[in-house]
Amino acid sequence: MLVTDNPPAEHAPAMGDPGLRWLAAVILVIVACLAALPFVSSREADSTMTALKDVADKSRAYDRLLGLLKDAETGQRGYIITGDAAFLAPYDNATLEFPDALRALVALAETAAERAALGEIERLSRLKLDELADTVALRRERGPDAAAAVVRDRRGKIYMDRLRVLVGEQIDTLERRRHALRDRLRTTLGYNTVLGIAASVASALVIGIALYVATRTLRERAQGAAQAHQLAEAQAEQARQSQARSQRLADTAQMLQAMDSLTGAEELREVLPAFLPRLLPGSAGAVYLYRNSRDFLQRAATWGGDGGHPDLVGADQCWGLRFGRVHAAGSGDGMHCAHCAATPPPENRTNLCVPMISQGEVLGLLVASVPAGPDAAMDQAAATAISEQLALGTSNINLREVLRRQSTTDELTGLYNRRWFDETLRRELFRAERKRAALAVVMIDLDRFKHMNDTYGHEAGDLVLRAVGQCLRDGVRRSDVACRYGGEELVLVLPECDGAAAVRCAETIRTAIEALSLRQGDVLLPAVTASFGVAVWPAHGDDAATLLQSADRALYAAKHGGRNRVCMAA
Ligand code: GH3
Ligand code: MG
Ligand code: MG
Repeated sequence: MLVTDNPPAEHAPAMGDPGLRWLAAVILVIVACLAALPFVSSREADSTMTALKDVADKSRAYDRLLGLLKDAETGQRGYIITGDAAFLAPYDNATLEFPDALRALVALAETAAERAALGEIERLSRLKLDELADTVALRRERGPDAAAAVVRDRRGKIYMDRLRVLVGEQIDTLERRRHALRDRLRTTLGYNTVLGIAASVASALVIGIALYVATRTLRERAQGAAQAHQLAEAQAEQARQSQARSQRLADTAQMLQAMDSLTGAEELREVLPAFLPRLLPGSAGAVYLYRNSRDFLQRAATWGGDGGHPDLVGADQCWGLRFGRVHAAGSGDGMHCAHCAATPPPENRTNLCVPMISQGEVLGLLVASVPAGPDAAMDQAAATAISEQLALGTSNINLREVLRRQSTTDELTGLYNRRWFDETLRRELFRAERKRAALAVVMIDLDRFKHMNDTYGHEAGDLVLRAVGQCLRDGVRRSDVACRYGGEELVLVLPECDGAAAVRCAETIRTAIEALSLRQGDVLLPAVTASFGVAVWPAHGDDAATLLQSADRALYAAKHGGRNRVCMAA
């Protein structure tokens, strides 16, 4: 399964949102306006200040013009009164500077009225300066009285008074203008203050909105990213679990397949350790089965190390068996089973005891030590599922064992049947031939058995047959095979056994049969005897048929010889 790192479409960058684009545009316009306002406002204040300076300059220029005229008049008066030429210095200086001062004012004139007033000032100034020049010349040429006479005719005073009025009017006009400009500057500065406060408030507002939007956007994006991350992690975890489940299913199927090919529960010892570590990763444990008793379970297999699991577990030693369901116990908690007393779970591990139940019947027990932690519940569920599969596999093995036993065993006596005898004799002859070892066959027939049946009933006959079967089983080695040949005829196959040993074995069995004391209900049955015919390979026959014929002939001889005896083939 594919897991992508890209966030899903709903978490695309927030600036892709048209609403946010509009908000950004509005904020930009507001910021631009706020940046332009102080510039416009300060330009206005600058021009007002410049105009104020111009007005002040012009006012000073009028003052100076009037001052020059006064200086010229003061010098003239001094000279007329004293006749001292030194008094003429202010007069000379003023008459020298006056034309420039007047030109400067004319150049600064802004209105037609001002230009007209300046024309009048120029005209009167010229007359005044001419009157002053005339009086100075008269004083110099004709003495003080002549000059004083001109002064006294008040012409010069009239010019001067008129000039004072004219210049004063201009200065008043300029003063009014200066007041107006000052008012304007005050208003502009007032506007500036208000604008500044408004700009600050607007800026704070814009910054606040921008911060809020940015924070919200970042939070949304972070939440989106976190959700996408969680989703990806959950998907990866799901993929991992689903893969683990598939793998477990495949392993379980393989284990069942392997169990299906087993001929007996003993072979579980080889098969289970190959699968259980894969089915329960990181685990160790054992599988127990009920075999010969319902009181005890026998250890059938272990994995992940021996782990000190006992060979036998009593049915009452396990809480899982007693409860009939999975039982878990950690290192510090839970009830610990008696069979785990030697192997208490270490730190961070849990012991699981899972009864293996198939069709309501408990067939065995799965004991597993698994890592404690977040996967413990999953392990417990897996162990339960595995124990069900193990129960199924074990039940199949048991079924096959029963079928095989039924197909090879005679039900009445518990001995092998005729078919198994034929196979065994062929196989053992082959083996004896290969190993050049001896092989003996003993044919057995119960004596006068028909009489037993006729007198005590068929059931008594069956009882005798079962007891005789037990004598045969008890009298042979593990490698020997005791079979029911048919009816009340029995046969032994004794590999690696010569004639003498075979006769000894037959004698032992014959004695055991003779010694039987059987009761059917209250009735004591009469003693049972049997006749034995012994044949040895290869002396009495090369193959199964001739060997059996020889044994049969020896049996016939035993019957003929008086029964209850052992005869060796001729
Ligand atoms: P002999 O000493 O000559 O062998 O005498 P016998 O009576 O045993 O003679 P025979 O071998 O001919 O008789 C076999 C009898 O065994 C016949 C039958 O009633 C009995 N028999 C065979 N199979 C069974 C069986 O499964 N159960 C019982 N109860 N009787 C069986
Ligand atoms: Mg017979
Ligand atoms: Mg018989």
